[in-house]
Amino acid sequence: MARYTGPSCRLCRREGEKLFLKGARCHTEKCGVERRKYPPGQHGQSRTKLSDYGVQLREKQKVRRMYWIMEDQFRQYFHKASGMKGVTGEILLQLMERRLDNVAYRMGFAVNRRESRQLVRHGHFLVNGKKVDIPSYLLRSGDTVEVRESSREVPAIVESLGMAEHRGFPEWVEVDTKSLKGKFVRIPSREEIQLPVQEQLIVELYSK
Ligand code: SF4
Repeated sequence: MARYTGPSCRLCRREGEKLFLKGARCHTEKCGVERRKYPPGQHGQSRTKLSDYGVQLREKQKVRRMYWIMEDQFRQYFHKASGMKGVTGEILLQLMERRLDNVAYRMGFAVNRRESRQLVRHGHFLVNGKKVDIPSYLLRSGDTVEVRESSREVPAIVESLGMAEHRGFPEWVEVDTKSLKGKFVRIPSREEIQLPVQEQLIVELYSK
């Protein structure tokens, strides 16, 4: 399956919810979901009742789109989560949150996960002092993420950090905005992830 390259807002409108795929715009009245509260496309405004399968599918798509994960990889995360001790749906979300591209985004080094992924791929970050350019790299509690010395003037990073500082950071990361360095303090609990997602529906979908 090819990677989606179309407009981000279209994905939110398809799910009928803000997935925060852009950045500052998501918090303004220019948000696509705020302006047009119906799915995109010719039949977007005609109401259709979803089957149970449809509801589960939409929930899975929503999470995949939030984190920009391809179907195959997402399924692999599910299998990994189901083999781990604990509540599968919760572990699935925790795996998503532990990805380097997500953590760099949560630390405010990028305005959204897509941009964060690009920055990681371009080698702008060090993990525990070593360059890591793999967006799916899974962080462990206590790991540090910092912007490389040579990347500290990158406008996208500087501007994003300014906005993030204003909004505040999640409790499970610590960020030093002066040194552009952060610490992944701990794996967030389900309550701390704060996503409008019913992950149990995804577990049901993949367990069929
Ligand atoms: Fe989604 Fe952000 Fe576009 Fe709103 S502005 S529809 S939240 S990507």
